Amino acid sequence: MLDADFFRRWITATAASVDREAQRLTALDSAIGDADHGSNLQRGFTAVLATLEKEAPGTPGAVLSLAGRQLISTVGGASGPLYGTLLRRAGKVLGDAPEVSEAQLAEALRAGVDGVTALGGAAPGDKTMLDALIPAVDALGEGFDAARRAAESGAVETTPMQARKGRASYLGERSIGHQDPGATSSSLLIAALVTAAE
Ligand code: ADP
Ligand code: MG
Ligand code: MG
Repeated sequence: MLDADFFRRWITATAASVDREAQRLTALDSAIGDADHGSNLQRGFTAVLATLEKEAPGTPGAVLSLAGRQLISTVGGASGPLYGTLLRRAGKVLGDAPEVSEAQLAEALRAGVDGVTALGGAAPGDKTMLDALIPAVDALGEGFDAARRAAESGAVETTPMQARKGRASYLGERSIGHQDPGATSSSLLIAALVTAAE
């Protein structure tokens, strides 16, 4: 079973890899966007960690809701409300249970992904974070490592896609040939599940 501490480790590990990969995320965003994805997420996750420390939420659902709320209020950019919705929606599904199973986490993330789809209107293949998140959630039943591999492949597979949502879509065919920054950060989020479980 996964407790609040596991969820805190997950978010903390995500923040650490966002920090480590910030330059790469921004470089990817400079090719097909406005070169701020790394700094957007760094700002967001720094605020998330500070609030986690201060409020010390005691359940998995509360950890995710708090993280989502902070991302929405501190990330100026499309990715803030989208990641915020993913985590808040998932947190809401987990409710106030003190511990949840991996299957419940998968179900919660599925609801979160549905929230991202409803908010952003993107479909699979549109070259967005969903191209990493959907395969990851589909693979979660086989474990965190399978989800990590699915997210990483999903992110790589955005390279030949033409963007149909978000800033990158303004480039039309010129968005082809670059990996999507948001799909790349989503693969970091999913990979951090493996770290949290170690
Ligand atoms: P902005 O584009 O406002 O500068 P970011 O650079 O932080 O925001 O985030 C860009 C990422 O957000 C994209 O790489 C893409 O993965 C994701 N994104 C943008 N629009 C959508 C959408 N409608 N649905 C899902 N993801 C989206
Ligand atoms: Mg950007
Ligand atoms: Mg921006």
